[in-house]
Amino acid sequence: MAAGEIAAAVTGIRAALDITKAMVGLRDAEAFRAKSIELQGVVLDAFEKAIEAREAYSVQADRIRALETEVADLKTWDAEKQKYELKPIGQASMARILKPDARGTEHPHWLCPNCFERGKKTLLHNSNRIERGHLLVACNECKLTLPVNRDVTDWAD
Ligand SMILES: [Zn+2]
Repeated sequence: MAAGEIAAAVTGIRAALDITKAMVGLRDAEAFRAKSIELQGVVLDAFEKAIEAREAYSVQADRIRALETEVADLKTWDAEKQKYELKPIGQASMARILKPDARGTEHPHWLCPNCFERGKKTLLHNSNRIERGHLLVACNECKLTLPVNRDVTDWAD
């Protein structure tokens, strides 16, 4: 926490000022020398505390930047996922499909429902494998395979 380090540095600087004020009235050389040594120690300590405060601030600034990036990514993903809906693609299989009003010029495609739930857009593709008489579509990311009972060139509906 940078606030604690900053407060410690400020306390150290105040102590140095107090010692400096006390030194102004000293006439005795030995007393002045002793106060001077004390002052050096306090200034050094305040300097170390200032460095610690700077480092703590830097760590916090990095963390804030990382969190801002994470929030921006989540907002982008949230907007993107609103374009898709979970729909049956045959044989009790489900895929994420672009909603009709979000299609625009984008080529029709199916997204892997597993990867979608983990915040990732991964295309399902024709595996060209037949299992129990049904064509399988597959996800290259999580290796999910789904049987479909339809012509997979018809990706839109
Ligand atoms: Zn997947």
